[in-house]
Amino acid sequence: MEVVWFKKDLRLLDHAALTAAARLGPVLGLWIYEDEVIGAKDFDARHLGFANECLAELEADLMGYGVRLLRRRGDAVKVFEELWQQTHFSHLHSHQETGHAISYRRDLEVIEWARQRGVHWQEYAQTGVVRRLTHRDGWAERWLQRMSPSPRQAPADLQGVVCDLRSEKICTAMDFGLTLDRSEAMRQRGGSAQGHATLASFLLDRGVGYTKEMSSPVTAWDACSRVSPYLTWGALSIRQCLHAAMDRRRDLLEKKSLGQRIDARWMSSIKSFQSRLRWHCHFMQKLEDEPAIEYRNFSRSCDGLREETEIDAERLEAWKQGRTGYPMIDACMRALTATGWLNFRMRAMVMSFASYHLWLHWREPGLHLARMFLDYEPGIHWSQCQMQSGTTGINTLRVYSPTKQLLDQDPQGIFIRQWLPELAQVPDSFLAEPRNMPGLEQQFCGCVIGRDYPYPIVDHPTAYRHAQEKLHHLRQRDDSKKEARRIQQKHGSRKKSSRQWR
Ligand SMILES: Cc1cc2nc3c(=O)[nH]c(=O)nc-3n(C[C@H](O)[C@H](O)[C@H](O)COP(=O)(O)OP(=O)(O)OC[C@H]3O[C@@H](n4cnc5c(N)ncnc54)[C@H](O)[C@@H]3O)c2cc1C
Repeated sequence: MEVVWFKKDLRLLDHAALTAAARLGPVLGLWIYEDEVIGAKDFDARHLGFANECLAELEADLMGYGVRLLRRRGDAVKVFEELWQQTHFSHLHSHQETGHAISYRRDLEVIEWARQRGVHWQEYAQTGVVRRLTHRDGWAERWLQRMSPSPRQAPADLQGVVCDLRSEKICTAMDFGLTLDRSEAMRQRGGSAQGHATLASFLLDRGVGYTKEMSSPVTAWDACSRVSPYLTWGALSIRQCLHAAMDRRRDLLEKKSLGQRIDARWMSSIKSFQSRLRWHCHFMQKLEDEPAIEYRNFSRSCDGLREETEIDAERLEAWKQGRTGYPMIDACMRALTATGWLNFRMRAMVMSFASYHLWLHWREPGLHLARMFLDYEPGIHWSQCQMQSGTTGINTLRVYSPTKQLLDQDPQGIFIRQWLPELAQVPDSFLAEPRNMPGLEQQFCGCVIGRDYPYPIVDHPTAYRHAQEKLHHLRQRDDSKKEARRIQQKHGSRKKSSRQWR
């Protein structure tokens, strides 16, 4: 009997572990509701809801082949021990996981348990992340090589084990004491079918203006691919996305060669999308190579810059609730809470605001965003949180002005008014800085600053100057320069692959 341990790879197709197991014998699928993972500070009810939807579809897909998917709850080693006592299985298959400290420690415990029980645990790569990477040279070429083979079909030889093993009921947020919020109604739905439909609608229709429209929250919701939660939970694989994009590109070129008119924007949109799929793995590689970045600064010369223990709780809460007095920040934070998603630029802006304007250590704001992002992927997330906080030591410091972002990305206040109903009647000219509205205007539009909408909790120019001074001074130090060299060597991207996308 081959046990396949499903983790964040909840799909039937392009599943290396399932394919390999099916070649060896009858398969039993296993999913574990791990209390420690679900109870962690970065986990939210929305993640469980999405995972359960993926699981329901996977269970039905596997059932089509007569393969059972057992659900069990508890500590992974205890679950494996119980299953072993019941079946004496000898082979365990799963994908490699580049997760957080909890899953990393859990995997080490499972290795030790498997060794003691004589169980052969085989792990398979599912992304472009390379285990035990010695250096970054040639990484992009390696990524391309790994992604080149076509996605795997469902294993032809897949068959199940006849058994009457106990399976846990579907565990919901309530079983873990997690609170459901508004996002239940507005978040993306889980499952591979939904993932493929999302990808197809992006590549065939929504994505045409991707390159231009990805930055504004007014257009990004439709123009971005929105495949991120499916990638995080493995309902789609990176390879499936990449190959779908390559197929689409070929179709377009064929149409063009036949003299049909195609929208010229498609080519750059598809190219940008493909690059981002590589970034996905590039960022995850950083956590794989240096797991400590989940907790501590990339650049150790930034230690002490902001103290984790000295978080200003009032500022943090105002930021979380979308009550900072900066409409662009507040609209983003409220939209995120309600939907589980934000586009890249807005994520970068809210994180940079927490770090530079509110001068909060990145860890607590990062944990809040992790809970809110349906697509929370530790490798991307913690690298990005640190990048937007100036602690990676190598990236350009970028302090976003929320006022400028509003004027650039939502000059008519479409997104702002959607998420901040108290500003619905505020004239366009005052939307970026409502506190500048004359008193009478405030009365007329039903938004009195300080009563209906807060005064800004910090002054942008002052906060900006303070952040710039601190960071620029720090970057001049010898220890910072030394750290920057080390980080660039270990994590920095190298020259682009010479092979181009086909
Ligand atoms: C502070 C911060 C935290 C973030 N946390 C996460 C996270 O937890 N999980 C996550 O998937 N992305 C994260 N991102 C990256 C990015 O914002 C999201 O991947 C993107 O917004 C997801 O929407 P999409 O699928 O429509 O992306 P698209 O723009 O359509 O891109 C397609 C895919 O490429 C990958 N990708 C896109 N941008 C990036 C990027 N900058 N870095 C790495 N991969 C990228 C993602 O897998 C994404 O699904 C974060 C960015 C910031 C600034």
